[in-house]
Amino acid sequence: MTEHTQVGIVGAGPAGLLLSQVLHLQGVDSIVVERRSPEHVLSRVRAGALEPGMVRFLREAGVGDRLDREGHPHTGFEISFDGTRFRVDLEELTGGEYITIYGQTNITEDLMAARAALGGQLVYEVENTRIEDLDTERPAIRYRKDGSEHEIRCDFVAGCDGFHGVSRPTLPGDVLKSHDRKYPYHWIALLCESRPVDKELVYVHHPKGFVLCSMRSPTLSRYGIQCETGDSEDDWPEDRIWQTISDRLPPDLAETLDTGPCLDRNIVPMRSFVAEPMRFERLYLAGDSAHIVPPTGAKGLNLAGSDVYYLSRAFVEYYKGGRSDLLEAYGPTALDRVWKTEWFSGWMTQILHTDPTHGPFDRQAQIAELRLLSQSRARQTALAQSYVGLPY
Ligand SMILES: Cc1cc2nc3c(=O)[nH]c(=O)nc-3n(C[C@H](O)[C@H](O)[C@H](O)COP(=O)(O)OP(=O)(O)OC[C@H]3O[C@@H](n4cnc5c(N)ncnc54)[C@H](O)[C@@H]3O)c2cc1C
Repeated sequence: MTEHTQVGIVGAGPAGLLLSQVLHLQGVDSIVVERRSPEHVLSRVRAGALEPGMVRFLREAGVGDRLDREGHPHTGFEISFDGTRFRVDLEELTGGEYITIYGQTNITEDLMAARAALGGQLVYEVENTRIEDLDTERPAIRYRKDGSEHEIRCDFVAGCDGFHGVSRPTLPGDVLKSHDRKYPYHWIALLCESRPVDKELVYVHHPKGFVLCSMRSPTLSRYGIQCETGDSEDDWPEDRIWQTISDRLPPDLAETLDTGPCLDRNIVPMRSFVAEPMRFERLYLAGDSAHIVPPTGAKGLNLAGSDVYYLSRAFVEYYKGGRSDLLEAYGPTALDRVWKTEWFSGWMTQILHTDPTHGPFDRQAQIAELRLLSQSRARQTALAQSYVGLPY
């Protein structure tokens, strides 16, 4: 069976759903295909800290109501190291900006509901997705569903299918350039039924390894614990999790640490990755299909948002205004923001984690950098500006 649309979208994660929603509001048709079931997509506990730009964009996309009601504004966060602790006051250092804590699961749920309310075409549980005929005016997304072959003919394909999708590998080997950095540690990421250690995020540098203390609500805490690259979820039973957090926290926070059942635990490899170009013929990559950041700076979902912002504007200008210059500029425009954010996420990761390959000199230099950061308003301002996100 063949269907026709303007933009064919591969992947119904946050990037694909948001793109289809924004295009719909601007009168551009799309069809989204997704490999997993809606329940599976919603079961993935991932990001949770939203930049103000992302919050504005979600409101613009008509999915800001619950976010405004239930999202928690955070005007700062703390960094703990070497027996001391300091606060980075985002609001004061950036002239009023702050981040909002609101889970990726909620955003996905809101977008799914909005797409359903507007009659959006989403096809779940597709198999063997292929992107073909990119060198023609009507490329095709072909897939198998319920035992039969299907085809979507479209003007453009948006590859929003994450790091393990099919879009990026569709680029020919002599065109695709991959830039990859793997860090010599992983995280075990946890969602736990327990009171967060503080009302704001706390980033803990400790000689035995980093801990991020975050949250989703007053009764749900989220932790990222630095672990070894060979670890699996089974290596982290709950008693080890709570003992490790307690050992690495500053004593006053460790004293009040609330423990509880861990509802979700995942090993997260720490890597920085960028694929170039983000556009090839009529295929446009957006979100994790084109880049990955280590989660330390909470930028993965936010970067997917800015890609979709640039790409949706380019498609809308093409269909409404007959302009193709924004489509041509999409790759370089998105990559400029991606590379700056990659730099920031890598820097946050490296100053806060304990690198097992480092000797005494590097360890002392790292503490010196954290001390400089704690003492310098200029350094904290630069950190705060990147943390709340570059404007778009
Ligand atoms: C465990 C974990 C923790 C994270 N924590 C954070 C965090 O704290 N802060 C932060 O900012 N970011 C975090 N991230 C990153 C953030 O979740 C991603 O950047 C974000 O999900 C990117 O959205 P996306 O839509 O581009 O990709 P995805 O969310 O990966 O969505 C891609 C979709 O495409 C589908 N798909 C894949 N292949 C195909 C195919 N062949 N055909 C059809 N569909 C396909 C997938 O099933 C998926 O639904 C985390 C990621 C992980 C894995």
